[in-house]
Amino acid sequence: MPSPLKVAVIGAGVSGLVAARELQREGHDVVVFEKSNHVGGTWFYDPKTESDPLGIDPTRDPVHGSLYLSLRTNLPRQLMDFSDYPFAKRESGDPRTFPGHEEVLRFLEDFAGEFGIRGLTRFETEVVKVERKGSEWTVESRTSRLGDSVSREEFDAVVVCSGHFSVPKLGEVPGIDTWRRPTFIPITTEFLNLSRIRHVVILIGLGPSSFDLSREISQVAKEVHVATRLSSDSPSLKFENYQNITFHTTIKRVYEDGLVAFEDGFSVYADAIIHCTGYKYDLPFLVTNGTVTVEDNRVGPLYKHVFPPALAPWLSFIGLTSKDPVFHIIELQCKWVARVLSGKIMLPTEEEMMESVKEYYQLMEKNGLPKHYTHFIYPLQGDYKHWLIEQLGLPALKEWKENMYEECIKNLDQMNHSYRDQWDDIYWDNIIQSSQN
Ligand code: FAD
Repeated sequence: MPSPLKVAVIGAGVSGLVAARELQREGHDVVVFEKSNHVGGTWFYDPKTESDPLGIDPTRDPVHGSLYLSLRTNLPRQLMDFSDYPFAKRESGDPRTFPGHEEVLRFLEDFAGEFGIRGLTRFETEVVKVERKGSEWTVESRTSRLGDSVSREEFDAVVVCSGHFSVPKLGEVPGIDTWRRPTFIPITTEFLNLSRIRHVVILIGLGPSSFDLSREISQVAKEVHVATRLSSDSPSLKFENYQNITFHTTIKRVYEDGLVAFEDGFSVYADAIIHCTGYKYDLPFLVTNGTVTVEDNRVGPLYKHVFPPALAPWLSFIGLTSKDPVFHIIELQCKWVARVLSGKIMLPTEEEMMESVKEYYQLMEKNGLPKHYTHFIYPLQGDYKHWLIEQLGLPALKEWKENMYEECIKNLDQMNHSYRDQWDDIYWDNIIQSSQN
């Protein structure tokens, strides 16, 4: 393996920042391409409203971020740090264990500053095409501040860190074509201007956005109805102290006059529908002639969610997994990629990697999981993390950190929205102390 390599990193969110640091540490020559004018990716709150909030119009002016103004982390800062860079409280910052999104952005900005990542980054430069030519990658990019000038450059390797929270995946709603009232995704001020969300609001989905937003909207709306795939009388579907939030089964049909009928027989005239149904993987710049595809939200084939066997190690993806302690997994993936590229860690053969991917797909099939669950790794996130740790020869994580993610998920599943305020400094002191005894 020639070293150092010239490596292109696409994106300067958490994945891109950490990838750049790890690649640099391994002595590689790194260029980060970032289409916006800032670092932090998702954690940069963009008040701009999409010209087409549902993302249906391909010519729309998209907004990368999908944060809503009031967003507070759903993991404690202790699970959003890096192994040698704690997410510490800052003077005049947000001191909460589960801080608001601004605090996460500051943390990432500090990280970028500390490790000199800004100096490696070409801002306002969108990668529009990545193509393998011979033994190199040609990266074509467009720089908006230079009048959209296009340039091409050759790289030995490309690390894709472009995120997967900007193209919304809409819930299936029979009759939606006739619906004449507003529909939103949980994004931007348009959505957050709560006074505009009147009276009766329908949320589709039961993920973290719905968990937070249903409660927030209930404070100004007359009624909030949440459409879920669960049975509406499931005992877990209940928020204490939020009388105007009701959970239902999926939507049977919506009508032109605003009527929304649920499968459980309930119907209501509603003023707005919000799709809290997640996002799609989107890699519009990648040209691999079918070697890597996105099919039913599965990016594949990828060995351990990172390397496409036929193009490894020259192409890799960071941060594709979800429902896991994202920051920790991203850091481990980045270290793995950087060390594979410097020849310190060997990958199995292409055939062996392909076999491993097939085994994983077969296991999913056996368990009745559709393709779009491929990168949704819960409850195997611990095994995945340990596998990466083992590859890297790193010491095991502290036990309390291991258990903490499960605790968060338990609280979210039980719809205990107050856990964020219960985990104060005393709580953490006790946890850390008891783990040392
Ligand atoms: P992103 O943050 O999306 O960054 C991708 C970057 O790539 C962006 O800067 C983008 O501009 C750039 N880019 C994309 N395409 C191109 C291109 N073609 N050319 C150049 N640049 C490009 N995680 C937690 O740990 N705790 C939480 O509480 C939490 N809450 C979340 C809440 C919401 C609403 C969302 C959406 C996610 C949340 N997450 C949370 C997960 C969060 O996304 C990840 O923590 C992490 O930010 C993902 O980082 P990333 O770098 O992979 O992607």
